[in-house]
Parts: sequence; structure tokens; C-alpha cells
Amino acid sequence: MKIDLRKLAGDYGGSIPFAGKLDRLDESFRQVEYSGEVRNHLGVLRLTGTIRAAYLTECARCLEPLEIPMEVKTDTLLTYEEHAAESEDEEYLLSGEEVEVEEILFPALLLEVEMVYLCRPDCKGLCPVCGADRNKQDCGCEEKQIDPRLAVLGTLLHRSGE
Ligand SMILES: [Zn+2]
Ligand SMILES: [Zn+2]
Repeated sequence: MKIDLRKLAGDYGGSIPFAGKLDRLDESFRQVEYSGEVRNHLGVLRLTGTIRAAYLTECARCLEPLEIPMEVKTDTLLTYEEHAAESEDEEYLLSGEEVEVEEILFPALLLEVEMVYLCRPDCKGLCPVCGADRNKQDCGCEEKQIDPRLAVLGTLLHRSGE
């Protein structure tokens, strides 16, 4: 959604609200909803917004599908020039008289995705021997840590003996 910033020119204190929705952003994000406003605060343009989405992923240990509800708030300065590094505000460099709010909100959402999600903190994961979900059954396999390099070697030896 584009916002025409010319409407805010000289309108100190003025703001333009925005809101949007997407059924899906890509394979990972569904039910995306966002809202916020662009405000002219004494000549400084600032975009504040909230974006919510369901992040589809899987448990890193047992691979069970997970749907993680996410909510990210943004507060971004819209500028035509890059400011000095001491500024602590998030900045977005404008290239014209419009701002595409999704270009600010979607990356903010992506940044909040964590590397690892678990179905529950004490998920027991899959058995490395037989692949059983150890949350659901106790397969009783003996757990020896096999060095993956040795495992490859074992396969090679097995093959050459055929
Ligand atoms: Zn799990
Ligand atoms: Zn097992």
C-alpha cells in the first residue's frame, strides 16, 4: 500500500492512517494484517505500525508443523538523506514522494523470526536410530552417538563389499 507523502507536506501534526491485509505473503506467512500511520511531526516524517501474521514452520526437534502467531511493532523515520550513525531510530530512505508501507513492515516481520521453534520446551525430538517421535512413544532404541563421518565410511565399506 502506497502513501502519498505530499499530502503531509507542511501539515505539522498531520497524519495518514493505513491498514492492509493479505491471506498469504509467501509459503511461510499467512493471515497477514497490518495497520499504522505516517505522521508529520514538526517536519519529520515517521511511520509507526503493527504487523501481525501466522508463521508456519515446524518443530526443530520433532518436525511437527507449527503455526506461530507473530506481532511486530515498527517505528521508522522516513528520510531523504541518511542520517549520522548516532541516530538510534530505524530509518527508511525515501526515493520519491510516496512510501510503500509494506517495504517497511514485511522486512520488520522477517527480522523477528527466530532460528529455532519448538513444539514445547521439553520436546524429546525424533529418535536418531529409528526416527520415531519420542514424545509419542518410547521406541527403546539404544542411543549411541555415531560420528557422522564414520557412518559415511561404514556405508562406503558396505558398498565396496557388495
Ligand atoms: Zn517437537
Ligand atoms: Zn528409536
